[in-house]
Amino acid sequence: MANLFCKTCGSLLRPRKTPYGNWMSCPDGHSQPEINQDGTVVIKNTPAKIVEVADDTNLLAVHDHPCKKCGHNKAELLEIMPFYSDEDNTFRMKCGKCGAIEQLEGKTT
Ligand SMILES: [Zn+2]
Ligand SMILES: [Zn+2]
Repeated sequence: MANLFCKTCGSLLRPRKTPYGNWMSCPDGHSQPEINQDGTVVIKNTPAKIVEVADDTNLLAVHDHPCKKCGHNKAELLEIMPFYSDEDNTFRMKCGKCGAIEQLEGKTT
């Protein structure tokens, strides 16, 4: 393998351990996004962190409803259709944070 140099500053790259695997990295910490070594997975701006955020926030949880379990004040409104036509629809609030489901009392119409 030819020597690899930092694309930013030209320093000789050194092997480095990262949480994603071992790869060559600049001693000054410049990232080398184009390097793909033998079997090493190159992480290009992984969306891992973005995914975490998306998991934590339910985009459908737009209704003001304090969760009894965790105190989060936004919940998703779930409407469950009745089995029989003479029954009212059932509404439930699903916590946007912990996912706890709470059935609403009484009629909502
Ligand atoms: Zn560098
Ligand atoms: Zn909750």
